[in-house]
Amino acid sequence: MRNLQITSIATLFMFLFLVLCDTFNGIALWWYVLLISIWLLVMAMGSFHMRWNFYLKAFTSKKNQTTKQIALTFDDGPNPNFTLKVLDLLNQYNAKATFFCIGVNVETYPEIFKSIIDNGHDIGNHSFSHDAMIAFNSTETWLNEIKQAENSILRIGGKKTNLFRPPFGVTTPKLARALKVTEHKVIGWNIRSYDTVTKSPERIIKRITKQIKPGAILLLHDKQPNVLPVLEHLLRVLQKWDYQTVTINELLNEK
Ligand SMILES: [Zn+2]
Repeated sequence: MRNLQITSIATLFMFLFLVLCDTFNGIALWWYVLLISIWLLVMAMGSFHMRWNFYLKAFTSKKNQTTKQIALTFDDGPNPNFTLKVLDLLNQYNAKATFFCIGVNVETYPEIFKSIIDNGHDIGNHSFSHDAMIAFNSTETWLNEIKQAENSILRIGGKKTNLFRPPFGVTTPKLARALKVTEHKVIGWNIRSYDTVTKSPERIIKRITKQIKPGAILLLHDKQPNVLPVLEHLLRVLQKWDYQTVTINELLNEK
């Protein structure tokens, strides 16, 4: 059973309990207000925490993994300033990664997108527009977003992908409904670099390296300057610690 159902059933039981107490003793209205507020808060937090598997099941790490493997993922590209440099660094260290691309960027930078594929990396769908208000999409609009990005990936890269990463990591019941139709695997992360909000590469590196463990999925973005020093340092550390960097599909298929 999804955590969503468990939360809803628990809330319903608590509501019935309040009604019962109210019938026999009479209770203040704010008990009801408190219960509904907590329920709404948990529902909203469920949207922002993919690891809770609240509205859908997301793959956020390989549990019980003993082989020293880690999956590096790059969101929001392809980017004209950084993606090719990221590819160079990955090549230098013989590392493979997964790029969750935005459809509109695939259309704008088709050659960079093809380079990602030509270098043997995996591709994931990260919506077509990555609009700031995308989380409020209807099921229909979500379906369009996912399918449009899918078409760009297939037409330009000649590749199909069954991986999807929700923009901003936000999941909703409507997105869950759309993904049931498209049958994509939802990929999250268990190491968040916060590289889009933290400028200092040193701070980002420190945050990442203390969380590295076998089976981890790391979230990075190939759209800002700090990705290069962070990646270079990280690849050096991973090499020193005998870690292999793999794609999401390799991690998923690892026995
Ligand atoms: Zn994104």
